[in-house]
Amino acid sequence: MFSLQTKKASMKKTLIGTLLAIILGLVQSSPSCLPGDRALGRCISATEEKASCIDNALGYCDDLAYSKTIFPNLLDHRTRGEIEFSSEYILLSVIDNLLQGECNPDLRIVGCSVLAPRCEKNKVVKPCRKVCESLKKSCQPAFDAIDMAWPYFLDCDRFFVGEEEGCHDPLEKLRVNIDVVSEEVAPQMPNTFIHFNHHSYTQMISVLKKTAARCSHISKTYSIGRSFEGKELLVIEFSTNPGQHELLKPEFRYIGNMHGNEVLGRELLIYLAQYLCSEYLLGNARIQAIINTTRIHLLPSMNPDGYDLAAEEGAGYNGWTSGRLNAQNIDLNRNFPDLTSEFHKIIKMRSARLDHMPIPESYWDSKIAPETKAVMKWMRAIPFVISGSLHGGDLVVSYPYDFSKHPLEEKMFSPTPDEKVFQLLAKTYVASHPLMSSKATERCGGNFVSKGGIINGAEWYSFSGGMSDFSYLHTNCFELTLELGCDKFPTEDELYSAWQDNKESLLSLIEMVHRGIKGIVKDEYGNPIKKARISVKGIRHDITTAENGDYWRLLIPGVHIVSAEAFGYSKVTKKITLPAKMTKPGRVDFVLKRVDINNRKFDRLVPEDIYDRFDPLDRFDPHSHNNNGEQGEGGELTAEREKPWWWSYFSMLGQNRPVWLLKNN
Ligand SMILES: [Zn+2]
Repeated sequence: MFSLQTKKASMKKTLIGTLLAIILGLVQSSPSCLPGDRALGRCISATEEKASCIDNALGYCDDLAYSKTIFPNLLDHRTRGEIEFSSEYILLSVIDNLLQGECNPDLRIVGCSVLAPRCEKNKVVKPCRKVCESLKKSCQPAFDAIDMAWPYFLDCDRFFVGEEEGCHDPLEKLRVNIDVVSEEVAPQMPNTFIHFNHHSYTQMISVLKKTAARCSHISKTYSIGRSFEGKELLVIEFSTNPGQHELLKPEFRYIGNMHGNEVLGRELLIYLAQYLCSEYLLGNARIQAIINTTRIHLLPSMNPDGYDLAAEEGAGYNGWTSGRLNAQNIDLNRNFPDLTSEFHKIIKMRSARLDHMPIPESYWDSKIAPETKAVMKWMRAIPFVISGSLHGGDLVVSYPYDFSKHPLEEKMFSPTPDEKVFQLLAKTYVASHPLMSSKATERCGGNFVSKGGIINGAEWYSFSGGMSDFSYLHTNCFELTLELGCDKFPTEDELYSAWQDNKESLLSLIEMVHRGIKGIVKDEYGNPIKKARISVKGIRHDITTAENGDYWRLLIPGVHIVSAEAFGYSKVTKKITLPAKMTKPGRVDFVLKRVDINNRKFDRLVPEDIYDRFDPLDRFDPHSHNNNGEQGEGGELTAEREKPWWWSYFSMLGQNRPVWLLKNN
């Protein structure tokens, strides 16, 4: 259903048209009241001064539950003209469009109950505070999504009163309709009813925030930065202790919509968030086990600007590439530092370190998207173990490396040292997916049937600067690329079955963070050692410990020789056996002894500050200032901040522009 998509360009025209129509209409409708007179208060007619009930004639408030209103209204507007020229009224006339259907029509009607208050027996009856409070609770996320402050005239304490003061419910008319519908259609409706439709940016933010609010004991949203056009890159997190890394608890992430026109992953993650929340509340044992043992982060849209462009064309109409790139025309999955060529270059050097590779200096001279930077910082801030990057255009799971080991070979099997682990992860996703695991070759993704529905990225087609290669070579995180279907922008009626096809796979991949081993590395006195290295014989790719000395090492079943070492400490080696059927990771802790660093050669150990070249640059990222507390809040950047995109719609109001809608004002 393409009418649900955001059509920003056409929306702008409509809005400007609306405003002009309002203003022109008003000038005609009150010819006797010139703007100068109005300012001097000369427009008050005799009838209005008597303060008696009159018919409500405000066009945008013509569907209230009552017909009589009174002047002055609750904002002390004394004439109809004064209201119609007010920025409050103009806001109500455009708010449905600005919020893209969120909070419609409740917000407008509650606003109208302030601008055109109910009148009974020539007295004002104020709207109920409770109604205002619940409206604010459900609509605040939609305002946050467009960076708009809550309108002052919807201040529940100022303009609304309690029941004891004889208030009225401005939404009573709506409630009657809703009650009838919900009783007839779904008497046993579950707590959350997932709507399997496409979500505009505003709708997405709103659903995520509402979900986090509903499950606030296990969920939280946070922003990792902003897109080039300033949209939040909002993550929803699930954990028994949201906002915190917990000792030994593995971290998982899904990233959707990196290519703006590949939208299925975005929707699936929005559904997954709602599913996790409601199933946890309903007592689903599996979902509770997952959330109790894992910290899950979902970034449904890494490229919200590209999405808007793709959505303008709409489902079924989207071509192959429109909206793929970000707003600067950067392909985000080509924009990460290319560490893979470096890997292939130095692999023959016995002492070269092939994990946690530093970002080459030259990278910083290239054009780097704010979305890319935000994700790189995020990858570094959290000790992720597994990631899934959700794409579209084919039906297959691909895994690193994406960049061929031979620069001139476009299709060349280029495995990582963890080939077996990657195969295990990829096969897990495929196994639970009815289409991916189907043996039919005449289907979408049919050419991967002979490979079991999975493929090494470079063997499929080679490219550099991808996110998955970077994740593996720069951090501890193993990332898969999930190609979810041949249709990059499916129609709405396909979304429910796509969710059914992927739900089990999405959950199974999360559960894979419990494969292999985990543990803590400490010194003799019990102090955790961070950035200690966990190496496995035969796999030239080390994992490092997190801040509190905890680590996770994904491994396939079998016998493994595992060592832990850290700069200035002795190396400790253990032999472990992992059974074929594992549901829990093996726990392997290490205690390292201090040694005299002058007496030992620490080959393959590099100084710990390999990332230092990365961090200073963040300060110059104009899009990162609002998600980075340490850079000082309210600095020059905030003061100089541009106005939000919707500000221009109020520019014709001159000095009466609603500055109260600007945040931090
Ligand atoms: Zn893609």
